[in-house]
Amino acid sequence: MRDTDLRGYGAFMKNSMFRIVPLATEVAETARRVAASGAPDHVVITVDSPRGCPCRHCLRWAQPGQQVILFPFTAIPPGRPYSETGPIFVHAGPCERYSATGEFPADFRNGRVMRAYNSKNDMIDAEVVNGTAPEAIVEKLLQNPETAFVDARSVTRGCYTFRIQRV
Ligand SMILES: [Zn+2]
Repeated sequence: MRDTDLRGYGAFMKNSMFRIVPLATEVAETARRVAASGAPDHVVITVDSPRGCPCRHCLRWAQPGQQVILFPFTAIPPGRPYSETGPIFVHAGPCERYSATGEFPADFRNGRVMRAYNSKNDMIDAEVVNGTAPEAIVEKLLQNPETAFVDARSVTRGCYTFRIQRV
């Protein structure tokens, strides 16, 4: 077990079926470098709303006054019908990658849809978190043996937020 798993050990035991997978640090760092180079598809934005810009790296809402980078991210790779690239935010400055991987991120317990994919990256199920505990929906989707992973996305704009894998 890695150190990062030990830090969230209590919650890890409670939700033993799944693991939260935030955006890889190298993806966030690459986005910061590309944005600094002035690439037109990596835009730096100053946040003006407390619930407008979720950072996919620390899995928290970026706060008003902070800067974020908006850039396209390929959540589902090319070559399949459900291939998908779409816009995501990361903090423009360094932030700590979400480490409580046994706990559903507190900032995103509402306003998400859970999409289940099989091992071929085809979407096989989806359910909106609507007043119920998101853990219950994730566990229900993972109970299907065909489910390889679940992606949490914005229910309004459809943007990829984070991945959930089996433990
Ligand atoms: Zn962040």
